[in-house]
Amino acid sequence: MTADSTSSRPLAGRRAAVTGSTSGIGLAIAEALARAGADVAINGFGDHGPALEAVSAHGARAIFAGADLADGKAAQAFVHDVQAGLGGLDILVNNAGIQHVAAIDEFPEDRWDAIIAINLNSNFHTIKAALPSMKATGWGRIINIASAHGLVASPFKSAYVAAKHGVVGMTKSVALELAETGITANAICPGYVETPLVKGQIADQARVNDMSEEDVVRNIILAAQPSRRFVQPAHVGELVLFLCSEAGGSVTGSALSIDGGWTAR
Ligand code: NAD
Repeated sequence: MTADSTSSRPLAGRRAAVTGSTSGIGLAIAEALARAGADVAINGFGDHGPALEAVSAHGARAIFAGADLADGKAAQAFVHDVQAGLGGLDILVNNAGIQHVAAIDEFPEDRWDAIIAINLNSNFHTIKAALPSMKATGWGRIINIASAHGLVASPFKSAYVAAKHGVVGMTKSVALELAETGITANAICPGYVETPLVKGQIADQARVNDMSEEDVVRNIILAAQPSRRFVQPAHVGELVLFLCSEAGGSVTGSALSIDGGWTAR
């Protein structure tokens, strides 16, 4: 089935999977894709009921495909489950990710391994599993949610920075390999995004530092983000929709910043 770029649901007929979409940015991306008419598979830990309901509410088909993406075989099986459940996979969004903050000489080995496995290796496994059918249909979109930390570093985030730089580099290679196939591969590099997790941190920091929540946002959390405004999860969803559009077909191998000016410094 092909999508109709002139309709209000330009992705009708497309099948999408978004990893780590039970919350945060992934959920906003899944909702944006569903609103544009795509059938969507969601994934992630925790109660997936509310996320499935929110995505279904947009009228397209929504399914849940559970998998622990830290396991490469499970990541490949996840793609095959989605293909079976939705009848194919045209749009793959690798979004699942975790963080751990510690000095390199105190970094727990198991946290290093988990961050590299989930934030980087899972992208390799899902892309590898998704490509044969995308190549067969001659259309595909691979969108990897990296980070501003895929382009620049911060202290105490060595595993996350290594993984996200790896995602950006891998995306470029994949794009070059696929340049003539109708399949694009891009990385999106958000700055600080206002997710439920970040909102919780604001309240905690305000209490610990005896500051107003406004001052915590401006002077602590968003100190590196020149706009001093959070990126909204829905804005990342809109960028994903652009990459899935016909015009987005000209964009491949890019690391697209959506960071309020962070990496312009
Ligand atoms: P979040 O914690 O709200 O969501 C992460 C999702 O990944 C959840 O659905 C979780 O269940 C899932 N997940 C975690 N480990 C998994 C595993 N092993 N297998 C399957 N699913 C797993 O996080 P978020 O802030 O929405 O972040 C989403 C992505 O965006 C991450 O890759 C993150 O690095 C990136 N990012 C976030 C920000 C930010 O400010 N929030 C900024 C830049 C980049």
